[in-house]
Amino acid sequence: MTQITFPEIQVAAPDMEATRQAYEQLHQSYDAAENLDDALEVLQRWDQLRRQIDTWQAVTELRFHQDTRDEQAKQARDHCDQLRPKLTELSVNLKRKLLQDPQRPALEERMGKQAFSLWESETTTYEPVIEEDLVQESRLNAQYTELLAGAKLSFQGQTSNLSEIVKYREDPDRNVRQAADQVRWQWFEDHRETLDDIFDQLVTLRDGMAQKLGFDNFVDLGYQRMTRVDYNQQDVARYREMVLAEVTPFGEELRNHQARQLGIEKTMAWDEAVYFPQGNPTPGNDYDHMIRQAHAMFADIGYGLDDFFQRMVDGQFMDLKNREGKAGGGFCTSFDLYGMPYIFANFNGTRGDVEVFTHEMGHAFQCYMSRHQPWVEYLWPTYESCEIHSMGLEFLTWPTMEKFFGERADDFRQLHLASSLIFLPYGVAVDHFQHLVYENPTASPAERHAMWQDLETQYQPWLDYGDLPHAGQGGRWQSQRHIYASPFYYIDYTLAQTCALQFWLRAAHDRDQAMKDYTHLCSLGGQAPFQELVKAASLVSPFEDGCLSGVVKEARQWLDI
Ligand code: ZN
Repeated sequence: MTQITFPEIQVAAPDMEATRQAYEQLHQSYDAAENLDDALEVLQRWDQLRRQIDTWQAVTELRFHQDTRDEQAKQARDHCDQLRPKLTELSVNLKRKLLQDPQRPALEERMGKQAFSLWESETTTYEPVIEEDLVQESRLNAQYTELLAGAKLSFQGQTSNLSEIVKYREDPDRNVRQAADQVRWQWFEDHRETLDDIFDQLVTLRDGMAQKLGFDNFVDLGYQRMTRVDYNQQDVARYREMVLAEVTPFGEELRNHQARQLGIEKTMAWDEAVYFPQGNPTPGNDYDHMIRQAHAMFADIGYGLDDFFQRMVDGQFMDLKNREGKAGGGFCTSFDLYGMPYIFANFNGTRGDVEVFTHEMGHAFQCYMSRHQPWVEYLWPTYESCEIHSMGLEFLTWPTMEKFFGERADDFRQLHLASSLIFLPYGVAVDHFQHLVYENPTASPAERHAMWQDLETQYQPWLDYGDLPHAGQGGRWQSQRHIYASPFYYIDYTLAQTCALQFWLRAAHDRDQAMKDYTHLCSLGGQAPFQELVKAASLVSPFEDGCLSGVVKEARQWLDI
């Protein structure tokens, strides 16, 4: 593989007419193939074409996120959104042909069953009749991203964006935390109408697409779009119940413990992120120092992560500093033509930088480990499995946290474990909310806020927003990007966290085995569905009864609760 660097990657937008002809050719050659090997050779050419297109899409999306104000990047992204459904149609047609091919069993034998399962799922999610709707959906998602990226909040005499102001949630001074949260939620309150309107349009649009495709509502379509091939809504509902039964009570105790530690009567919403009276440990704001420490960390960890990180740095496959106009959040994308991932984040000087960094590096490492997978389908697994690699690495880097937090590394570990667990009730509430929203697509914005508030009471009974604007009236979900842009994605984090916590347990008892299982899982890429991958890494599926009890029990001891 060429040792390409990111600045060298230039992929032209596909010419639609030429792409259509290329597909035409593929169909003809496939039909004319005289034996299985010839047919597979045609499919290899298709694979190459898709890598080319995927790489172009990834670069275009990334450039837009790097500067949401750049007109050229915006136009390119719009163009990409326009073409996406057309490209989907072309590939879906070929997938349909393969699914119906009498020689499918032989193809499955050679390509693996998983690709076919994914296609079964995927082909139900697209018909030309929804082409315009998909373009409109991307447009609305972009509106949400731009609206949030453009927020200018003034706090303590400075102008911050939404990525920057959240750092004050970790300020040791309680008054500062509360004041910053006031400013943040006031911004949401001021944009309430727009936020409600964008979401309302999205719900109507998605429900409409579901109807056009013959689904009862968007919930079923949403699951198919996530290509969940080996579990269903009932499994997810049972999992949410388990979190409610096992983690919510633990969460209450944890918040009480946190309040005692902070010397306050109870934790208010603005106290949630702080666990120590002197403030949380931080890695500091020196970017170059962070990168040096990251080098040292991966050198200590080994198992291929050391060489891989060097390759990321050399090839400039990272954009981690926060700046004006840059989209919020963190993610990992990949350039499939070159077998290289790219990580994006917005460092703000809090411990979250370390978490986001190790998280995205986990994704990136899996992508790199799977780069020799023969089919595009297998470069990444489905998302709930992807998040095991990322959240798993967050825990597997624990022994090296001294490099970022010095003598407060133990504080970091406590806080990381506590926040990972208390995240679960929030995460399942986000999922539950989306089920309610799409099962009741005609609900009014006010009814949606009420639904969210109800769920908060159930899953996170400790929450108290005091007199904060917006969040106090059931509006917190509007700051959760996934609810707008990636419907039904969120449960994946909780399923994966349940697996990642098992890596935490294993590493504590047998580090070498945990690392071997982890790298093995990464190299499998997306060859198999979620529960098979989980089994391959010797983990217990989150859908099995009691999957959380061991972890919660050990966490209690570890956190002294
Ligand atoms: Zn992730």
